[in-house]
Amino acid sequence: MKTLEDVAATNRGANGAGLFERLAEHDHEEVIVLQNRETGLRGFLAIHDTTIGPAFGGVRIRAYGNDSEALGDALRLSRAMTYKASLAGLPCGGGKTVLMEHSGLRREGAFESFGALVESLAGRYFCARDVGIRDEDLAAMARTTRFVGRDPAPGLGDVSEHTAIGVWHSLRACLEAAGIRGQVRVAIQGVGSVGARLARILSREGMDLLVADAVEGRAAEVARETRARVVAPEEITFAEADVFAPCALGGVLNAETIPRLGCRVVCGCANNMLASPEDGDLLSACGILYAPDYLANAGGLIRGADYFVLGRMDSGPSLARIYGRTLEVIAAAREQGVSTARAADRLAEARLKPRKTFRDLTWRGELRPPALTPAK
Ligand code: NAD
Repeated sequence: MKTLEDVAATNRGANGAGLFERLAEHDHEEVIVLQNRETGLRGFLAIHDTTIGPAFGGVRIRAYGNDSEALGDALRLSRAMTYKASLAGLPCGGGKTVLMEHSGLRREGAFESFGALVESLAGRYFCARDVGIRDEDLAAMARTTRFVGRDPAPGLGDVSEHTAIGVWHSLRACLEAAGIRGQVRVAIQGVGSVGARLARILSREGMDLLVADAVEGRAAEVARETRARVVAPEEITFAEADVFAPCALGGVLNAETIPRLGCRVVCGCANNMLASPEDGDLLSACGILYAPDYLANAGGLIRGADYFVLGRMDSGPSLARIYGRTLEVIAAAREQGVSTARAADRLAEARLKPRKTFRDLTWRGELRPPALTPAK
């Protein structure tokens, strides 16, 4: 693992836009630079937009190559959360925390110190688990802030299951819009937490499945349960199927892969499926219907907002609305002659724009999330 000195050395070579230009590019409200010498805490908390409500967004920890890369991740992911929440009609905005893993990190103290910072925001940012976070990290944070969602919480349910149900609603809208009937075949890339749950739902719906996973044995296990056929990880993207469902990595849809896809619909749970915005246009040009990732995979966030902000115990009706929203995006794309990716962005932005002009950067919380864990 890199030391802080290694990271600092690579930073000196970083050649990108200045900090303010990077924030202004997508109009981020605020970025908090996290630094605590005693614990080695380093990272960025990016608040993209709180026009509609408090910023929701996970905390992730990774060994980043340099500060610039970590900041880029925080900016990109926090913006995606705003769009996801806006398109889902939720009373919240987008945020994200990215922490840097390094050999000098004193993990428990660092998370306690980060929790204290979150507490000082008084509900303007609400966080939960993301990549790399362990149960004990959440426990350390909960000692110093009330604004961390710990799972399992009584009544919250299985967040990945909610995500998978949301993907299913989006997928059935795509099938309808693409006029695909009869026996449907779906190729699922990655049968981890969400992918395996999606496979079970689709199998219950009587669909033919092809599954692949990078971890040996995982695809075979899911295949046994769902009567699926196992395909090699390097083949699944190009398999002949009605639907390709990316449920593993970002960036799988790019100029190299799109012309070789063997499907008519792409709909899955992976975040940031498109390597660039132009790849959404390329999918349209190739006649492939794409369910925008942040529309199809919003089920987990919808459940979180329902549970923590709106106090709803049942998210079935909220998740089912992903079906209508997917049809709405497809109709808007056809009407405007743009890709579904661009149509989704326009709809998400339309909800923010009229209020954003007047937003108050000191947001005082019309819809303040309830304190989850009493601060000790
Ligand atoms: P996960 O880690 O449980 O599952 C991912 C699976 O993909 C793993 O089984 C992994 O072995 C497999 N995989 C990795 N590389 C692969 C490859 N090249 N080919 C085939 N399989 C590969 O993660 P998850 O929670 O299921 O999330 C999957 C994706 O969905 C991620 O992009 C995540 O950001 C996104 N997402 C998840 C949720 C959620 O509720 N968990 C919500 C929204 C978005």
